[in-house]
Amino acid sequence: MSLPDFEFVRPRTLDEAVGTLVRFGADAQMVAGGTDLYPSMKQGLFAPRVLVDIKALRGLDELRFDPDGGIVIGALDRISGLAASRALAEHFPVLAEAARGIASPLLRNMGTVGGNLCLDTRCLYYNQSEFWREALGGCLKKQGELCHVAPGGRFCWAVYSGDLAPALMVLSARVTLAGPRGERTIPLDEFYVNDGIVRLAKGHEEIVTRVTVPAASSGWRGTYKKHRIRRSIDYPLAGVAAAMRVDGSGRCLEARLAVTAANPAPRLVAAAEALRGRTFDAQLVEEIAHEAIRTAKPLHTSASTPEYRRQIIRVFVRRALRELWL
Ligand code: SF4
Repeated sequence: MSLPDFEFVRPRTLDEAVGTLVRFGADAQMVAGGTDLYPSMKQGLFAPRVLVDIKALRGLDELRFDPDGGIVIGALDRISGLAASRALAEHFPVLAEAARGIASPLLRNMGTVGGNLCLDTRCLYYNQSEFWREALGGCLKKQGELCHVAPGGRFCWAVYSGDLAPALMVLSARVTLAGPRGERTIPLDEFYVNDGIVRLAKGHEEIVTRVTVPAASSGWRGTYKKHRIRRSIDYPLAGVAAAMRVDGSGRCLEARLAVTAANPAPRLVAAAEALRGRTFDAQLVEEIAHEAIRTAKPLHTSASTPEYRRQIIRVFVRRALRELWL
């Protein structure tokens, strides 16, 4: 499979990049590390006339930690930089662990934080060669009229499969976007849309510039659990991020959980609120794990069955809470 022809544009400033996206509209697509986009272009999923390479934009690759202000992560920061950061490992362990588990060392060196946050949703019937997809007549997400996962509906269940987003969500991260109408910052959990086609609450001409994690989330215990078939490289088929603040007597002061790779959007588990003020309670852990399964609604979008992925999420929640709480 080879890449289709395209024109390559490399803007030097953010304004220029946004202007280029506005000028070419739907004919243009943004790229940075390219670890997700180029394989997808080879599979015929995208064929932009113009590729807007934002790697040369200045000021989007900072990784700055300040004990009072929290951490600022540039959209062009390499995932390997996050994985190697001492500040991250010390103050935001859930994020460091999620970064270390992404793909392979080579892909972490190429892949950017912004790219990981904006990953396309994935599905067994979509991430295939053009020939394979055409044999089925396409699907709602690409050149078809039917969803092969849920044939009776008009909804795409393709799954968001990023690892950084759930880890950042449990740390109350916010994402900043630059676009034709200036800059805006929103909570990261509002950046995702639970629809496999729409995916992101982001305009086509908007560029993710940075993510910020507040100082209040620093020092929380944290862990990220990831299920994948090939441990050395794959996307998650289910993932759970957990962060918790615990006092000296073992009482949970605050806790957050998020599930990824099960729905079209990563989701916070609301039930984790019930952990506040409690000491370890195995029955409560089981109840939270059960609620996490209700939040996660995996369908047959990957090689692992939905039932197996649900059980994996239950086990991950159980393990994560025990690890952080005891
Ligand atoms: Fe296509 Fe359905 Fe898969 Fe979406 S969930 S990519 S519409 S088969």
